[in-house]
Amino acid sequence: IVIGMIAGILLGSLLQWLMPNGSDKVFNLYFFDVSLRSLFVDGFLEVIGQIFMASLRMLVVPLVFVSLVCGVCSLKDTSKLGRIGGKAIALYLATTAIAISFAIFVALIISPGEGVNMPTSSSFTSREAPSLAQVIIQMFPTNPFASFAQGNMLQVIVFALLFGIAIALSGKAGERIASLFEDLNEVIMRLVAILMNIAPYGVFALLATLFTTVSLETFGNLIVYFLVVFFVLLLHATVTYPVILKLLTGLNPVIFIKKMRDAAIFAFSTASSNATIPVTLETATRKMGVKNSIASFTVPLGATINMDGTAIMQGVATVFIAQVFSQDLTLADYITVVLTATLASIGTAGVPGVGLIMLAMVLEQVGLPVEGIALIIGVDRLLDMTRTAVNVTGDSMVSIIVAKSEEQFDESMYLDSQAGHTIE
Ligand code: ASP
Repeated sequence: IVIGMIAGILLGSLLQWLMPNGSDKVFNLYFFDVSLRSLFVDGFLEVIGQIFMASLRMLVVPLVFVSLVCGVCSLKDTSKLGRIGGKAIALYLATTAIAISFAIFVALIISPGEGVNMPTSSSFTSREAPSLAQVIIQMFPTNPFASFAQGNMLQVIVFALLFGIAIALSGKAGERIASLFEDLNEVIMRLVAILMNIAPYGVFALLATLFTTVSLETFGNLIVYFLVVFFVLLLHATVTYPVILKLLTGLNPVIFIKKMRDAAIFAFSTASSNATIPVTLETATRKMGVKNSIASFTVPLGATINMDGTAIMQGVATVFIAQVFSQDLTLADYITVVLTATLASIGTAGVPGVGLIMLAMVLEQVGLPVEGIALIIGVDRLLDMTRTAVNVTGDSMVSIIVAKSEEQFDESMYLDSQAGHTIE
């Protein structure tokens, strides 16, 4: 997967060099004219990348439903669910608040928007922010099949929890259904493992396609903003998470970072925590040692409500936009930013680009122009990919902490560097 990632980035950059400004290039190969963009990029790389992405997303809903039902059934005492949920949500919100506070702090020191002159006539249409009450009401599905079809993760989670509890309370009939779900879970996890085998090619194709268009040279005025977000993301993943993990569990964080690598690359290539759920879940349960009873709940929940990387982008972007528009924010404004960004992450799914929609809510709360988003949109794709990798790292870390505190953690698997590498 690492080789796929590097090769994809190199090939994409090479293709971009061969076809500057998106132009196509036609080579004459014997009797055939080969057009680089239309044949090789659009007709080959893009096709492989999109098929890979679709296969990942195909697995998300069935996997979350089946594994969560299994997870609930395997918890002997379903009354523990409230405590597990409470811990996970508290940790998710706390890590997001830490992430955005850290980002605002660094951005205020570096001032990425100071002295930047940008045309501010561009526009960005924001979407109405749902209220917290609406988010909570909408977590309860009226039609579970519609929730499955729409991939509404919070509704799928709520239905799976209730269904799992009912199975656990249904005596003999419940036991039969539970064992059916266990078998189904094995089969779906096998499908995930099969997909992992073709993952290097998928990652390669996705990144090669993307890097035919992304170039750091075009970042211009935004380069400082980009670098600040990027480095805070890096620091959060390599310093804040390891420190929290060590403090709360005593586990060696270096192992965590190493084992996180594949899932982080997936998240980076797809820019979607949701599409990465199968891989995050596999990493948590088959490499890190988190029992399915915890991971099946905390991973999909985290993919939906926990977005530390996204919060970091929002923190830096708010400071940047305030500076470009020469507006001073007070301490109370910054606290509003932290609270809004943390709460906004609850109601928004982990899909590509959703961070900008959340940013619109944050800017509105502190009276900054939403059009400011148009300024940073140009460099957002690479940042979206990077912050998604941080988002899923946070989901896995919280899963470990909750599992360890609930004694649903297999430490020998965590310490085994070969764990998870034996599936064919
Ligand atoms: N793409 C991110 C995710 O899926 C969300 C975002 O920051 O836009 O986690």
